[in-house]
Amino acid sequence: MATTKNYYKTLGVEKNASFADIKKRYRELAKKHHPDVNNGSAKAENNFKIISAAYNVLSNKKSRLEYDQTYRQQTRPKGRGANTWSDPSNDFDFSGRQKTGQQNDFRQTTPEEEQKFDPEFPTRGFDLQFMIDLPLVTVALGGTVPYSYEKYVMCFDCEGTGFVDSEECSVCKGKRLVVKGVTVEVKIPPGVAENYPLRIPNEGGEGRNGGPPGDLILQICPQPHPHFKRVKTDIYAEIPISPELAEKGGPLKIETLDTVETIEVEEGTLTGEELRLPGLGSAILWGKKRGDFVVKFKIEDD
Ligand SMILES: [Zn+2]
Repeated sequence: MATTKNYYKTLGVEKNASFADIKKRYRELAKKHHPDVNNGSAKAENNFKIISAAYNVLSNKKSRLEYDQTYRQQTRPKGRGANTWSDPSNDFDFSGRQKTGQQNDFRQTTPEEEQKFDPEFPTRGFDLQFMIDLPLVTVALGGTVPYSYEKYVMCFDCEGTGFVDSEECSVCKGKRLVVKGVTVEVKIPPGVAENYPLRIPNEGGEGRNGGPPGDLILQICPQPHPHFKRVKTDIYAEIPISPELAEKGGPLKIETLDTVETIEVEEGTLTGEELRLPGLGSAILWGKKRGDFVVKFKIEDD
């Protein structure tokens, strides 16, 4: 079983920290550890990845809740003497020391490797990974949505040199890079799976010394819909009907993902009975074929 890192410790925040605090702390750490402001140091890259991974999980309400639950389960003491309070080799904090351990998901670098790094060598920009919250309908049928995020780009004022008239650039403070908010139009493939890592080429961090940019990776997070539920390629909808209609049967107008349909309620319909409307569900395999829309009747109280 995969061990879970203590993401709170990674960011140096309390377990009950607010989302605003987490974001603030992440931005502080990201500024400090971003590889682009650390001369592309492999260690900084490693640290930055760890911070970003922690932030990705803790910045989203749903994933944070899931993480809290998983982490609690994994760190629950298993009987006397078998205290499994997190594998210490997987815990990082950024209080200036890095715990050494044998196991780590991330690449460990030796001082030797760091010395070999040439800061002037063209290197590819970093991949940026975030989560994107999407309406269920967009996930089921696809669409184009704007996505805004921040990334480091070359400082325009000093043209990425860090100096203006042989003085340190006041805009980037000599770091040659500045944080910039950007918005991209993201094409959501129809029927994309939950948690799918959608890769948008070249929208990640800028390359260094003429290197190509990294990619933007957006993890698909469908938002709960008030009436619809997606189960694989089918969409389930609970439709309330009056006791009278349930008893006598008759036509009923309902809204699907993208159409309005008139269905026939059968005589003597019971709560929980289903009616399948083929081809009105979620898209299948990013294509034009679609799953079913399943109406689940619920007889309203008098
Ligand atoms: Zn500058």
